[in-house]
Amino acid sequence: MSEPQPTAKRKKPRGIARLIAGRCIACGARCQSACPVNCIEMNDAGEPIVEAPKCIGCQKCVKICPATAMDMYFTAEEQQILAELATSAAPVEDETDPEAAALSKKLSEYKGVWVFIEQTEGEPARVSWELLGVGKELAVKLGVELCAVVIGDGVEPLCVEAFAYGAQKAYLVDAPVFRNYRTEAYVEACCHLIETYKPEVILMGATGMGRDLAGAVATRVGTGLTADCTGLDIDVKRNLMQTRPAFGGNIMATIMCDKFRPQMSTVRPNVMPMAARNEEARGTIVREEFTVPEENILTKVIEIIRDTHGKGSVDIAGAEFIISGGRGMMGPENFALLQELADELGGVVGASRSAVDAGWMPGDRQVGQTGKTVRPKIYIACGISGAIQHLVGMQDSDIVIAINRDKSAPIFEVAAYGIVGDLFQVVPAITKTIRELKQKKS
Ligand SMILES: Cc1cc2nc3c(=O)[nH]c(=O)nc-3n(C[C@H](O)[C@H](O)[C@H](O)COP(=O)(O)OP(=O)(O)OC[C@H]3O[C@@H](n4cnc5c(N)ncnc54)[C@H](O)[C@@H]3O)c2cc1C
Ligand code: SF4
Ligand code: SF4
Repeated sequence: MSEPQPTAKRKKPRGIARLIAGRCIACGARCQSACPVNCIEMNDAGEPIVEAPKCIGCQKCVKICPATAMDMYFTAEEQQILAELATSAAPVEDETDPEAAALSKKLSEYKGVWVFIEQTEGEPARVSWELLGVGKELAVKLGVELCAVVIGDGVEPLCVEAFAYGAQKAYLVDAPVFRNYRTEAYVEACCHLIETYKPEVILMGATGMGRDLAGAVATRVGTGLTADCTGLDIDVKRNLMQTRPAFGGNIMATIMCDKFRPQMSTVRPNVMPMAARNEEARGTIVREEFTVPEENILTKVIEIIRDTHGKGSVDIAGAEFIISGGRGMMGPENFALLQELADELGGVVGASRSAVDAGWMPGDRQVGQTGKTVRPKIYIACGISGAIQHLVGMQDSDIVIAINRDKSAPIFEVAAYGIVGDLFQVVPAITKTIRELKQKKS
């Protein structure tokens, strides 16, 4: 005698959405926006056309329609299954949430961590190598490849550089039209790569170029973008946790983009440590034969004027020693004290926003949330209280030395060395001591 076989569970049909003729008021495609699987197209009259084979029967369009113009129907085959299920004692398969299943399928198509390698006239931006450092950590956690995106004209050597900083693969788009950065051309190239290779995460520098490109690309591919991240990590569901200051820097917010891919972030220069360099490292170059007709690009680059290396300008973001002054400096003339100390150390003078707002120092010297992020070997804060908006711009310096006459000033919380005293006595004393030490040595 044979054993009774377990009865197979049968799936209950969910139906397919359709438009009820004459009901649509062309409300602005709410049904299309609600559809999680993009199976609704709008016709010229602003009415929906449902692509029936793609519909998963979630009823979102039906629920959102303000004119009750959508309903669900069952095919003849589905109606037969429903009739059979109604009369049979066979178990019905538990419903899995089709929307969640469709989302998870869509997200799983995206793999890999990408870093956009920013370059101007072939010269790479240091922030790109910093991003490869944090990108590597993310790629290891996700168990995926770390890839560089190199766009330009004659920029293949940058792929090799990217391998030295940890990239395993480089997507190279190399053509004369990409010689100089122009939003239209670079957006086309980036979107082409994204649509072809589907990355999970894309990181760009929060520089003029990176901010412009990231925003335009995110808009085009329809995903989220978190600007000026100060921390990046991966959660248990493989989502990118993007941390950045919010509400004027008073809180740190962690932002997720859990329904769209790729997840895009920008990070300011000097926020992440440089990736370790390995000259021996090798990787794969994927050359994309992609270009954009020059006549399609409205912007023409006439001349590149570099403002950071010009005469008289000071690059505080790249300095190894920074002596910053705040409102405690009492006036612009007193910054000469800081300049003397900076000259002895081979450093530069920075400032808090209060000092900049008071007109004591130019805006390009401002350190902090709305100024520059710095990561020098030594940061000396003179007469700066240590507001959170200032700290986010300098707290990752190797050594912070704070000089303040208020022993409870918050700056001391991030300082390796704190001097409670009057800066007008302390700063000249330090300068004098350094001079004497130098003289003894020579
Ligand atoms: C949206 C937003 C963005 C901001 N962005 C920035 C930013 O990018 N960078 C930034 O710096 N700020 C920024 N701020 C401003 C920030 O909140 C603080 O107001 C500012 O940093 C305070 O500057 P300060 O420390 O120089 O001045 P104060 O807070 O007034 O501190 C002066 C300090 O000097 C000390 N002092 C006075 N005299 C002496 C003396 N003789 N010797 C020793 N110590 C002395 C005092 O004890 C005091 O601690 C931002 C604020 C907002 C709302
Ligand atoms: S039922 Fe769901 S999947 Fe089908 S068209 Fe409507 S929103 Fe899209
Ligand atoms: S939501 Fe309803 S009214 Fe609006 S476009 Fe869709 S079918 Fe028409």
